[in-house]
Amino acid sequence: MEQAVTAKVKLSNRKELQQTIKVYSEALQFCIDKAWEEDIKYRSNLHDECYYEIREKFDVPAQLTCNILQHAIEAVKESGSKPEVKEEYSPRYNFPRSASVNKEWTELSLLTMEGRIKLEIQVPECYQKYLDCEVKESTLLKKNGEFYFCFVFAKEVNIQSSCRDSRVLGVDLGVNKLAVTSDNQFYGTEIKEKRKERDRKVAEIQSKVTHEAHNRIKEMGSRWKRFIDWKNHNISRQIVDSVEKGDVIVLENLKHIRESNSSDTEWVHKWSFRDLQDKIEYKANLKGVKVEYIDPQDTSNECSECSHISEDNRKKGFFECENCGFSLDADLNASRNIAQRYMRNNGSAGSPVNLPNGENLKDSGNDESERTPASFEDENTRKPLPPEAKA
Ligand SMILES: [Zn+2]
Repeated sequence: MEQAVTAKVKLSNRKELQQTIKVYSEALQFCIDKAWEEDIKYRSNLHDECYYEIREKFDVPAQLTCNILQHAIEAVKESGSKPEVKEEYSPRYNFPRSASVNKEWTELSLLTMEGRIKLEIQVPECYQKYLDCEVKESTLLKKNGEFYFCFVFAKEVNIQSSCRDSRVLGVDLGVNKLAVTSDNQFYGTEIKEKRKERDRKVAEIQSKVTHEAHNRIKEMGSRWKRFIDWKNHNISRQIVDSVEKGDVIVLENLKHIRESNSSDTEWVHKWSFRDLQDKIEYKANLKGVKVEYIDPQDTSNECSECSHISEDNRKKGFFECENCGFSLDADLNASRNIAQRYMRNNGSAGSPVNLPNGENLKDSGNDESERTPASFEDENTRKPLPPEAKA
């Protein structure tokens, strides 16, 4: 399978970069409008419709025009409403057609609206190991007035080798995503919406101070508990199914649990974390998979690439290291730290199951959006039917 990892590399402030982002954004918006208004769903149709118009109107080089067309089609496809006019989109680049680097990785050659320019680059230490990998579609990013180039590296990895080492899978438990594992799986991501809906209903009923309302809320509480119980059965099954005999699953020691800021629901979270851990441990033991616990201190604030620890690394659901620029989903970063911490404590027994995902840095200013890969599917043959999820 293929891994992808994004390396954000700072560029010097050149007027061509600003100009390129500006023109790219204008041309992209032009294409988005066209595709949206005329309901164009395929790049080839959009190409016929506006390729020459863009080249003439905005004076965009051919290579970048192709990227703009593709970008516009994806933007329209992914959106249920016409994509908002943003002042600045992040231009996309393909290697080696619109961007390339020298052999030493010290110079980036970038196609701009003014032609090719060369920029000095310094790839952070933690990304050096990816430099021999293929570079996939990458982006030029402007953030807080600074320019960056986001290299997306892809690497082919063979995780199913016949004589495999035992693997170490880190599991991060959370309130909004019930579990995230260091092999990029997200479990129970829909829980946040469900909980919000439930809280809304509770508040509604609470406004009526009747005996009946009191009973209703109590009933909703136990229904929610049954739902989480069922969910935890499912998730623990899937996590244990994803490893093999001899592997190690690493969990956080709950004595130090630091999540959850609303105290009235804290016990529910604690209970559900503990319940999920118990279920994982029970199923893992049956399969001959070891379950180990680590001290979770700073697992969410530590960079899984360079080990730099800072509270500022984490912004809501997103992790971005202030030291090396490494960025990805915050819970995924935590799950990798959990696996790595266990390995450090145990003299690196086994290999961590860390499969960097395709960090998406397509648009600047979008860092806070939650990424919730749709990897969770309810499938269960031996468990009781789900109680009503909605209260
Ligand atoms: Zn870092």
